Amino acid sequence: MIREIRFNDKSIEYTLQRKKVKNINIRIKPDMTVSVSANPRVSLKEVDMAVLNRVEFIIKALEKFKNNSKSELKPLYNREEISDIISDFYNKIYNSFKEYYNIPYPTLKIKTMRSRWGSCNYKNHIITLSTNLVYCSREQIYYVIVHEFSHLIVPNHSQDFYAIVERFVPDYKRIRRDMNRIILK
Ligand SMILES: [Zn+2]
Repeated sequence: MIREIRFNDKSIEYTLQRKKVKNINIRIKPDMTVSVSANPRVSLKEVDMAVLNRVEFIIKALEKFKNNSKSELKPLYNREEISDIISDFYNKIYNSFKEYYNIPYPTLKIKTMRSRWGSCNYKNHIITLSTNLVYCSREQIYYVIVHEFSHLIVPNHSQDFYAIVERFVPDYKRIRRDMNRIILK
């Protein structure tokens, strides 16, 4: 049986099967269907309520599957373009930072990094950027470089740190959120 519940402006469909389970089991399948098994003695209303109670979890899981099933990431730039973008931003950002902070020009390294967009060696003044930035928009690349430059001032992710990031990228929260959705393989 297929049922539908509404949550805010979303509607969620689920398949209900009556089984001898303890109470109610909710599963999200990779084909993005929600499958619920419920003991025959549990009323439809109770099943709907159980689904509704877990609606946030369900939406999150569905979104995750959606992202995973997205076609392979495609690079947005060729080698030359990405290195131009990076060096252009890097110099611009250095100049903006120099207006506020007395920092020497940091060494730039670009390399393959598995799970990070960049890193900053605060002590040795080295900023390392990931070759995976070819999958990022220009504004995202800009944010990553600002992020790493900000670590030259504050090495951790404290409020002071984000205050610096915000000075150069006021909209950094949205950009960071979008970047978290990019799944690298
Ligand atoms: Zn950081």
